Amino acid sequence: MLVAQAVFARPGEFTRADVAGATGMTRSTVSRLVDQLVAGGILAEDDPAQRGRGRPGVPLRPAPGTFVALGLEANVGHLASYVIDLAGRVLARRFVTDDLAGSDADATLARLADLGAETLADAPAGAHLLSAHVALPGIVDHDAGVLLRAPNLGWSQVAVLPHLARWASERTLTGLDNEADCAALTIAQPAPGYPGDLDSFVYVSGNVGIGSSTVLGGQVLAGRHGWAGELGHVCVDPDGPVCGCGARGCLEAVAGRRALLAASGRDDWDVLVADAAAPDPDPALAAALTRAGRALGIALSAALNLLDLSHVVLGGHLAELADALTPAVRAELDTRVLSGPFEPVQVSVRTAAEAPGALGAAYHGIATLLADPARVLADEASEPDAAAAQA
Ligand SMILES: [Zn+2]
Repeated sequence: MLVAQAVFARPGEFTRADVAGATGMTRSTVSRLVDQLVAGGILAEDDPAQRGRGRPGVPLRPAPGTFVALGLEANVGHLASYVIDLAGRVLARRFVTDDLAGSDADATLARLADLGAETLADAPAGAHLLSAHVALPGIVDHDAGVLLRAPNLGWSQVAVLPHLARWASERTLTGLDNEADCAALTIAQPAPGYPGDLDSFVYVSGNVGIGSSTVLGGQVLAGRHGWAGELGHVCVDPDGPVCGCGARGCLEAVAGRRALLAASGRDDWDVLVADAAAPDPDPALAAALTRAGRALGIALSAALNLLDLSHVVLGGHLAELADALTPAVRAELDTRVLSGPFEPVQVSVRTAAEAPGALGAAYHGIATLLADPARVLADEASEPDAAAAQA
């Protein structure tokens, strides 16, 4: 609905009159809808007593603490969950480190569901569970709620949502998405539905493999099925090492975490990161970093040329190694990106949130609400609150 979307996009700035101006609706229609959204716990109005002298209206904002969205993530090295409210405040979170490569999908998803229930138990009493959404490192079938393939987990054709149905209703299960797409949403939006300054970029992040997502005009570029953005499986060397996907010479097989450990002769990631930051890395590590940086620069140049983009955001293990990788990445971007002389390519590093995929999954649930708040309000009467839902 336009009214809710307009307020979420400018939290604390728009009055009813501003919403009418922005949406083209009449003042009376906007007022009636705002009344419904305030009564339904989706919007809140600032205290009129505190408004400044001469200000004609009361600013509106997303209601804090009324509804909560749960975001879950199963990845190769961790399970994670976030509970946030409509304003994007993190109310509860969990993060469990584990090696889940080759794990039993159903057993791991059952653990993820338990983690979600535990996190929800920390939500404020009376807050209603709006949505539960899952981020996974692979390609998914949104409509069927099925993970089609996640090479680094070794999972394929896994029905995900039934695991959450123990404590979430069908309405609250909003689906699943690729974890890099979810993470990219948290970069494009500092809070749910609130567009930030950076609205068009390629996000490339590493966990064990390499995930990637493209954001164009504030929207994640999904492709026909939501499968777009697999930069990790773009070929950078047809004679290179075999990738987890079965193909040869993918970016991930050269610049993924496992590849860097193997090529540098190390088995501890923290040691590799510390050594990479030292003034003179040993020749094996220096060569591995240069090769990974070149591969990343080559793959990114192809993406930027193809999509008319000029901003790259590095996350995950690529952010940890940004200083060491950037010279080789830069050299390739400077040579290969055709538009570089007219709009220089910017590379920025994102290290803020732990498990941004889980946080972005929670954002997805709120986007579902913004698309149809009237339905949520109509359904709400029959729904249990979040604390009851996990019991
Ligand atoms: Zn591959």
